Amino acid sequence: MNLSDYRRDFAAYNSAIQLAYYKYRAGFEESLRLEPIIDRYGDLFTPDAIASLKSAFADTPENFETERAGLHALLSAARTGFLEAQARELTEERARCESAARIEWRGETVPAFGVTKLIANEPDAYLRRELTARWLDASEVCDDLRAARLESFHESAKVLGFDSYRALYSHITGTNYERLASLTDGLLERTEAAYTSALARLAALDLPDVAFNELAQGDYLYLQRMFRLDPIFTAQDLMRTYAAAMSNLGINAEKQKNIYIDAEPRPSKYPRAACFIINPPDDVRFTIAPTGGVYDYTTLFHEAGHAQHFGWVSRSLASRHPEFIFGPDYATTEGYAFLLNHLFLDASWLLEHRPNLNETLARGIVRDLAFITTHQVRRYSAKLKYEIELHDSAQFRSEQLAENYRTLQEQATGFKRSATQYLMDVDDGFYSAAYLRAWAFEAGLREYLRTRYGRRWWANRRAGDELIDLWSTASRYSVEELARLAGFGEISFDLLADSLVAAMNEG
Ligand SMILES: [Zn+2]
Repeated sequence: MNLSDYRRDFAAYNSAIQLAYYKYRAGFEESLRLEPIIDRYGDLFTPDAIASLKSAFADTPENFETERAGLHALLSAARTGFLEAQARELTEERARCESAARIEWRGETVPAFGVTKLIANEPDAYLRRELTARWLDASEVCDDLRAARLESFHESAKVLGFDSYRALYSHITGTNYERLASLTDGLLERTEAAYTSALARLAALDLPDVAFNELAQGDYLYLQRMFRLDPIFTAQDLMRTYAAAMSNLGINAEKQKNIYIDAEPRPSKYPRAACFIINPPDDVRFTIAPTGGVYDYTTLFHEAGHAQHFGWVSRSLASRHPEFIFGPDYATTEGYAFLLNHLFLDASWLLEHRPNLNETLARGIVRDLAFITTHQVRRYSAKLKYEIELHDSAQFRSEQLAENYRTLQEQATGFKRSATQYLMDVDDGFYSAAYLRAWAFEAGLREYLRTRYGRRWWANRRAGDELIDLWSTASRYSVEELARLAGFGEISFDLLADSLVAAMNEG
């Protein structure tokens, strides 16, 4: 195998896949068309190619660290590529099914994937419940495809010689998922009291019509929308605030032609924001579907974190090691996304970036947003636990699984949830674990930047330069390696828990 040819084709394949997803998710294309791309580059992920990469890895001496890390990422990507190629028809079918799912609402037909946005904007608790029920009814019809797709992944993992799907991803990311789940158990315990009292406070304030023990998923979506804060987080200031934050770090966002932001509302656009790394560092795009208010701000900053990360990738690294861009461990890029996202948990940052705020108001916003973040971290802790169980089970269509999904989610979040989401609320490849590792890493990185550059690290150009240095290495290093390299040691869920509790108790 000629490794440089392989890497060139691997980069071209990923660019094409990213572009196809971008066009589909942004609402430019009605269907997701992966087939022609997978046909064209099918040779990249055959068992033969995987075997060649495996022996290339085995033949590379230990002291060639970068090449070994590269080959591990390349081999891992080839294995996940094999899984995806085997499941491609099911993936396309699922996308068709999800796009076709519709609900009737107020005399109009609405695509099911757009309903969460309607729920978030619905002030009436009864109507939120009605919308949630219709949304889940419409989405559930794709569950057989979801289960079949999981079966295909599991079979493929075995074909590749792994004991299980979990063993495959454990090998890829170097993560022991059970150990991670026990660490996040500790986090759930450590944040429990502060989370519950924050929830009680916010529910009394924003959801006065709903009894505390009747809070449901739709109420969370509405709460997360934070209407109260709309006058502070106006749509017309969104891009200006982003530009100001980046300029603080010495980055001129308005001049970054390589980062394209698609914030236009479009009827068939997916409401979930996403970053598409089409040809880093030259072509990085991200989409957000404006919902309004502070939610748009934090989402924009999150996606901008991904975009800045890949927009600053060293050009020579990108051509020599595209696997550090398109590799299958996402924790590193999620860590940088959370770093920008969590600027909103810093009262002094808010004071400098929103007009007409005083100290008390700023601290109140931090408390509110810290609750939202803690909800996410707790929810993903429950997701990881459930996903371990899901991927360990022999049968995916199972009432027991659905029931366990519901219980874990409700215990972690305090919001009731329908068990019917047990197959739709699952991301491929233990993405939940990538988020959790990223959150813990980000807590350490933020602490590190504060120690090194002061409380206002986000207004220090040297901090910006250090970030650019880190970003230039793409995802060459895992979050665990980065934590050690930067000198803040192991990533810590205690530190993450304590920083969330402190922010929920801000002021
Ligand atoms: Zn992200």
